Amino acid sequence: MEDHEKGRDAFADEESYRLHSLRHSTAHVMAEAIARVFPGAKFGIGPAIEDGFYYDVDVSRPIHEADLEAIEAEMKAIVKRNSPFQRAELDRDAAMATFADQPYKQELIASLEGTLTTYEQGGFTDLCRGPHVPRTGNCKHFKLMRVSGAYWRGDATRPQLQRVYGTVWPTREALDQHLFRLEEAKKRDHRKLGRELGLFMMHEYAPGATFWLPKGEVLYHALAESMRTELLREGYVAVRTPMLFDTALWHTSGHWAHYRDNMFKIDKHEEGDEHVRTYALKPMNCPSHMLVFGSAKRSYRELPMRVHDQGVLHRDEVRGALGGLTRVRQFSQDDAHLFVMESQIEDEVRAIISLINRIYGAFDLGYKAKLSTRPAEKLGDDTLWDAAEGALRGALDANGLAYTVNEGDGAFYGPKIDFDVVDALGRAWQCATIQLDYQLPRRFELSYVGADNGAHVPVVIHRAIFGSFERFIGILIEHYAGNFPFWLAPEQVRVLTVSEKAESWGREVLGALRAAGIRAELDAGADKIGAKIRAAHHERPFYMLILGEKEQENGTVSVRGRGENNTVGTFTLAEFVARCQAESRPPFGG
Ligand SMILES: [Zn+2]
Ligand SMILES: [Zn+2]
Repeated sequence: MEDHEKGRDAFADEESYRLHSLRHSTAHVMAEAIARVFPGAKFGIGPAIEDGFYYDVDVSRPIHEADLEAIEAEMKAIVKRNSPFQRAELDRDAAMATFADQPYKQELIASLEGTLTTYEQGGFTDLCRGPHVPRTGNCKHFKLMRVSGAYWRGDATRPQLQRVYGTVWPTREALDQHLFRLEEAKKRDHRKLGRELGLFMMHEYAPGATFWLPKGEVLYHALAESMRTELLREGYVAVRTPMLFDTALWHTSGHWAHYRDNMFKIDKHEEGDEHVRTYALKPMNCPSHMLVFGSAKRSYRELPMRVHDQGVLHRDEVRGALGGLTRVRQFSQDDAHLFVMESQIEDEVRAIISLINRIYGAFDLGYKAKLSTRPAEKLGDDTLWDAAEGALRGALDANGLAYTVNEGDGAFYGPKIDFDVVDALGRAWQCATIQLDYQLPRRFELSYVGADNGAHVPVVIHRAIFGSFERFIGILIEHYAGNFPFWLAPEQVRVLTVSEKAESWGREVLGALRAAGIRAELDAGADKIGAKIRAAHHERPFYMLILGEKEQENGTVSVRGRGENNTVGTFTLAEFVARCQAESRPPFGG
C-alpha cells in the first residue's frame, strides 16, 4: 500500500518510474512473507523510498535480525513462485470487508474517496494504487536491511509499529554495488576516521563545536589558505568582522524577525545604560559586509567589490540533530559577498562557476547544478526577476553546464544556483551556492555613484564554494577514505629505520624534509621494520621511506607509497625533497 497515487507522469524519467515500481512491488512481497512468518500481522503502509522500501507492521513481538532471515527465505519462495500482480477495483464497503482483520488498512480506507484498488499476488491482497512490476519474479535482487520503530501515522499517541527496511535492484550487480557502497560508507564514516586518524574531536562541554587536532588543523589550514590565496588572485579582498552584534543589526537585516530562534543571544548590562542590551552571535557574514560597503562613499569604479570572510559563525541547531562535522553549531565558511552593478551579474556568476569547476576538479569531485527560480511570494517585480534569472541561465550556459531547474524554489529576495558535489561513492552533498540578492542592500540603504552621477543600489551576490569548512572536510575525509592527496596529507612522509645503524641517516633525512617544509615524522624505534610499516599503514602517511645500511651508505632513500607492495623507487635525498616540494603545491591558490 502506498499513500499517494503515482502515475508514470509523476516521475522524472523512465528509470525512476521503473525503480519505484520495483521497490514498491517488493514491499508487497515482503508483506506477504511477514504474514507467513508472523500469522495475524497487521499492516500499515509500505512505500518505496530512496534505494529501497519499507513496510510498517504490527506483530506480536519485536522483529529481530534472525527474523529478517526467515522473512527473506519466504520472500525468495514468493519470487520463485513468480505470481502476477493483479489489480482489482472495488468500492469502499467491499474494501472494508476485504480488510476486515486489518485495522490500519480500514482506517486508510475510511479516509479515501472514490473507487479503491487492490493488488493481489498468490492469494495475498494489499490495498494499493500501484504502479507495480508484472510479476513477483521481477523482485529477485533484494535484501532486508534493518528494523526500527515507527508510530502509526507519525503520531506518538498512536501504536508503535515496526518498520522493516529493504533494498531491491534490477540486477544482481546493481544490488552488490549498492551493498558495497553502504559497507564502504560505513568504513569511511568521517566520525570514525576522524577519531582513528586523530583529525578532530568533540566534547560535551562544547556541543556542536569542533576541536581541530594537530592533524586536522593541517587540513583546515591548507584548505583555508589555498582558498584565500585563490580568491585574492581572482580580485577579491579579505576582511575580518566581529562575531557579536547588537540586535539592532539583526533588526536591520531582517534576521531578528526570521532567524532569531537559530541565533545565540547574550544579554549585557553596560554601566550607565538604563536597560539590558541584547547581542547575538552572527549566524552569517552578510550583514557585517553590508556595514563594510556602507562605511564609505562608493563609486561604480569600485565595482565589482568582492568581499571574502572566513569568520566564525554560530547557529543554534537542535542538540539532537548534531552529529560529526555534518551538523554543527559553530563553523566557518569560505564566504564572500560581491557588490555589483546589474550589468555585471552575468560575468561575475560566470567567473564564480568557472572557479567552482576548477576547485571541485582539484578534488576529483563531480557536481550537479540546480537553478532555483522566483517563488510565489517574492520581492521586486517580474522584470527584475526575468533579468536576474536570465543572467544566471546565461552564466550556466556560457560554462556549458547541464543543470536542473527548481521552479519557484528561489529565496524571496532573489534566484540562486546550488551545487551538489558527487563524491567517490556517488553520493551528492550540497556545498556551493550562488544567490542573487536585491533586498539586503536596500535594507541597509546602500548605494554607489554611477557613471551618470546618480545614486544606484548595488546587487549583492552571496557565494560559497566549500560551504562550511567543517562539512567540506567531513566530505573530503569520506571521499578520500582518509587517504588524502600529498598536498593535504597531515603526515606527508614517514621515515622508517630498519635498524639502529640507520638512525643517524634517518635523522638527517627528517631534518632535510622538515627544512624543506615537508610534514615528516621519524620512526626510529626498536620495532622490526614490518611492524613499523604496519603501524604507518594505519595512519596513512603519503610516503614511507625505508632506510637501512645500504641507503645510509649511498645517501639514498627507498620510497613506498600507500597500499601493499607499492614501491615508488630509490632516490637521492635531494631528488626526493624536490619531488615532495613539487607535489605539495596546492592544485589551486598555490
Ligand atoms: Zn502496491
Ligand atoms: Zn551571505
